[in-house]
Amino acid sequence: MKIAIIGGGPAGLLTSYYLAINGCETAVFEEHPRIGYPKHCTGLVTARSIAKVPVDTKECIEKKFGKLIIHGQGREAFEISIPTVAKIDRVCFEEKIYAEAVNQKTRFRLGARIDTKRKGDEIKLLNVIEDVDFIIDARGFEAAIKNSEKVSKNKLVGINLIIKGKTSMDDNAIHVFFDNKITPGFFAWLAPINEHEVLVGGGFKNPPTQEEIMRYFHRKGFLINHGQIADKYGGVILRGPPISDFHGKNWLAIGDAISMVKPITGGGLYPIISSIPFKYNNGSCDEALIRLKTGIRNTLEKLRKQYLLSKFIHKRIFPYALDAFIPLIKMVLEVVYLDYDEHDKLVSQLIENIAKRNVYPA
Ligand SMILES: Cc1cc2nc3c(=O)[nH]c(=O)nc-3n(C[C@H](O)[C@H](O)[C@H](O)COP(=O)(O)OP(=O)(O)OC[C@H]3O[C@@H](n4cnc5c(N)ncnc54)[C@H](O)[C@@H]3O)c2cc1C
Repeated sequence: MKIAIIGGGPAGLLTSYYLAINGCETAVFEEHPRIGYPKHCTGLVTARSIAKVPVDTKECIEKKFGKLIIHGQGREAFEISIPTVAKIDRVCFEEKIYAEAVNQKTRFRLGARIDTKRKGDEIKLLNVIEDVDFIIDARGFEAAIKNSEKVSKNKLVGINLIIKGKTSMDDNAIHVFFDNKITPGFFAWLAPINEHEVLVGGGFKNPPTQEEIMRYFHRKGFLINHGQIADKYGGVILRGPPISDFHGKNWLAIGDAISMVKPITGGGLYPIISSIPFKYNNGSCDEALIRLKTGIRNTLEKLRKQYLLSKFIHKRIFPYALDAFIPLIKMVLEVVYLDYDEHDKLVSQLIENIAKRNVYPA
């Protein structure tokens, strides 16, 4: 079966590799001339997710973190343990998967932007001459924003700065800052990468300048001896809701293209990796597609629950529960870092707490 994959980001690359090892004839069309560029992602993902990828990407791990320190507005910082989170070099990660996909005989056309037309249940490629039997839409955030007003409304601008210098804080932790003055409705982050460089960033409704971001971290005393900005990159952070219209007669969509992201953090790598059933490698292309569709459906279902939960916490609880700020943030973070299977347990725990009025101020 001939399959065209539109988009050469992590979703398109990993899907092409998975389908190619199962005997599909795959071709990836990527509008940019080089895989991995332009850079946008912070690259934080659990080490266990990385381990699920059947391509060796160990050398792309720049640092591992075992704890998260939360800094709330005017409140004392607190620490939570997390499963090991790796900071990966996203370009390296994508290049490794690209190389393996090529080894598996996937054809790549770089610098090729593909337009499509939807007619009923089918999608047609507009500027591709060859005939294809099936299409994978892995076009990233643009497609999701175009197709869903809600996703478009929720989006943020994410900015990452790599700063030459040191931090005054724990080097082995990822630091997260909830501060409505700089990141209303979202958060900023700081992660020391090595002895000489600190990564800072945030998700913004109205993006500040890079000087304003630097000033924020410096004024708070979080950055010391800092100098130049060694690198800066960013892009659109989606926060859901996931788009349920993800397949048709001759197509299937995956990744940011259907807003397949964790709604609280905007993280998209885990949902992509956990949707692809890499364990299946028996070589039947038809069966591989069926299993992929099931994997995506299951992930979307879990993300939908997470989205509803995050909305609920945001709208119904935060405004009344300032005193319970820390336990609530802890609970939210548990949802983010625990396996998604724990959702139902967490929701009932939350409802139980509300029933006991534990989360309301006295
Ligand atoms: C600032 C920032 C920080 C982030 N940090 C994290 C993080 O720490 N951890 C995490 O898990 N996630 C993070 N994310 C989210 C993560 O980067 C995305 O979820 C992930 O990149 C989605 O992969 P994708 O392949 O679906 O889309 P993309 O990575 O966007 O790839 C889509 C590809 O399709 C190509 N394309 C688009 N349209 C066409 C077309 N018409 N024809 C041909 N090619 C096309 C694009 O050029 C692009 O290469 C972050 C995002 C941002 C913006």
